[in-house]
Amino acid sequence: MSIRPILIHPDPRLKKVCTPVDEVNDDMRKLAGDMLETMYDAPGIGLAAPQLGILQRLIVMDCIKEEGAEPQPMALFNPEVVWESEALNVYEEGCLSIPEQYADVERPAEVMVKWVDVDGAACEAKFDALWATCVQHEIDHLDGTLFIDYLGPLKRQMITRKMVKLKRERARA
Ligand code: ZN
Repeated sequence: MSIRPILIHPDPRLKKVCTPVDEVNDDMRKLAGDMLETMYDAPGIGLAAPQLGILQRLIVMDCIKEEGAEPQPMALFNPEVVWESEALNVYEEGCLSIPEQYADVERPAEVMVKWVDVDGAACEAKFDALWATCVQHEIDHLDGTLFIDYLGPLKRQMITRKMVKLKRERARA
C-alpha cells in the first residue's frame, strides 16, 4: 500500500461526476488500500477517490476516533443513499481537500446506504451520528459536491481564496 497525494480545492477534478466501478478487481482493491492508508496518514475519517484524482465511485471511511479503539476501515464501491431520515443533524465538517477549514453543515441524521464491498458483495446498512455525516460527505464528492457548497457564497469564496493562497505557497516551497 502507498500514500498518495490529496488534491486541494479548487481543482476541476473535485467538481466532476465520477463513473461507477465496473468490477471490484485487484487494482480496485489496491486503490482502496492506498486510499485507507492515505486517509489514516492525513489523518482523516473519510476519503473519496476523486480526492486522489481518480474519477471513480469509491469511498473509504473509519469514523472510530476514540483512542485505543479497534479501527473499523470500510471501503464502499458505488455507494448510494437509498433512504434518509427527516430528522437532521449538524456537524462541524472539514475535508482533506480543504485543509484546516471547518463549518457547520446540516444533513439527514440517519441514512440507509447500499454499496459493493471489496469482495464484490452487495451490502446495505444504516448509518447514524458521525458515520451518517461522513458517508454523505464522501458520496457528495463522487458527484462533485464539496461541503463548502452548502455554505453561503461569501463564506465559500473566503475559504476558496485561502486555498488558492495555500496552493500557491505549497507550489513555491
Ligand atoms: Zn471531503
